[in-house]
Amino acid sequence: MTPTLFRATFMHTPSSPFTDAGALRTETDGGLLVDGSGVIVQSGDFATLHAAHPDTPVTTLRGGVLLPGFIDTHVHYPQVRVIGGLGMSLLDWLDRCALPEEARLADAPYARAVTSEFLHGLRSNGTTTALVFGAHFKGAMDLFFEAAADAGLRTVAGLVVSDRLLRGELHTTPERAYSEGKALIERWHGVGRARYAVTPRFSLSASEGILDACAALMTEYSDVHFTSHINENLREVQTVRELFPGSLDYLDTYDRAGLLGRRSVLAHSVHPTDRELGQMAAHGCSAAHCPCSNASLGSGLFPLRRHVHAGVHVALGTDVGGGTGFSMLKEGLQAYFTQQLLGAAGLPLTPAHLLYLSTRAGAEALDMGGQIGDFSPGKAFDAVWLRPPEGSTLDTVLNHASSPPEALAALFANGTQADVAQVWVGGDRVYVRSGVPAAAPQVTAADPPPVLSS
Ligand SMILES: [Zn+2]
Repeated sequence: MTPTLFRATFMHTPSSPFTDAGALRTETDGGLLVDGSGVIVQSGDFATLHAAHPDTPVTTLRGGVLLPGFIDTHVHYPQVRVIGGLGMSLLDWLDRCALPEEARLADAPYARAVTSEFLHGLRSNGTTTALVFGAHFKGAMDLFFEAAADAGLRTVAGLVVSDRLLRGELHTTPERAYSEGKALIERWHGVGRARYAVTPRFSLSASEGILDACAALMTEYSDVHFTSHINENLREVQTVRELFPGSLDYLDTYDRAGLLGRRSVLAHSVHPTDRELGQMAAHGCSAAHCPCSNASLGSGLFPLRRHVHAGVHVALGTDVGGGTGFSMLKEGLQAYFTQQLLGAAGLPLTPAHLLYLSTRAGAEALDMGGQIGDFSPGKAFDAVWLRPPEGSTLDTVLNHASSPPEALAALFANGTQADVAQVWVGGDRVYVRSGVPAAAPQVTAADPPPVLSS
């Protein structure tokens, strides 16, 4: 790309609001100087940066707010067409909605179409990086990685493996899980913006043999990621206990196999024991909190306070299609609701927390905190410009916001896919809402600030 000075109202959280009361950084008339490789080299107020770099072309994002690209740490690619299966709890929903659909991805044309729909869902909602729960078929994963590269998104994804209690066509063997995983890692891990995640579906559907095959891959390729589900639903937890009588608890089924570490992300964790939280913290694992899914499937209210106090890192995931859509704004709002509903056991969340959980926290969960997650110099320019259509409710509320935190709260309370105007990954524009100009003309520092006069 051409080096560019972006002018916008922007907000980001380079540190965690759980430990730093001043984590939210805002510029009402901000500048982000992005070099030819798509990396932010300077970040600050526009006038200062423009004076220092008068010859650098300026792109003005007038109105709305620029945020770091959203990072979704738990989302199922094969489930985009079954979003909205209401009225069931986890195991019934899997049987009736998710697994029959996932079986259809054995068909390559079907998988190709679903891949395209899924990736559109991510980028049109401002998600620039995702830890993607894949398909049970190697062919469908090759199609996914090819399409994700074309879409320009950062993805961490892997073949999902299971050998019991699902449907026969979704089962594999430990030998095949290893050989197909190895082939996918060799072809895709570290290529472009793709990374590989070793992905047993959950201990309920994975024998010790499958978990050992996963561990063999992680030993052989020490920098791959690991993801699975944990402690989502009480019936699931009880079944896992019966299937692994020698394990201390659900976490221990993964721990004994050697699957836990800094690059492990465990989805849900709604019903953890104190021992499990202590062990998750000791391993440096992260929890992917999926509040819309937890509410929709009636799984429970996520104990965020216990995770934070135990030192377990938490990020957000949409859990499409148990979740209700791709919007990380909606997920942030639901995370806030969940803590409100927990009363004294909840952890009150500010707008800064919601931004952190949907951006920077995800980068840290994926061990990518040095590259993405905020607008500090040295980070890739991964960004979402939220620019509500004129006259929309969000537009009205933003125009009357008297401070950046108020504007941020308005974005989470009112924002939807319709407000995502443009999205960049590594400086490459990967999404433009129809009707939004592809490039704003060059402007001078004399132009008025974009929004939120201070
Ligand atoms: Zn899931």
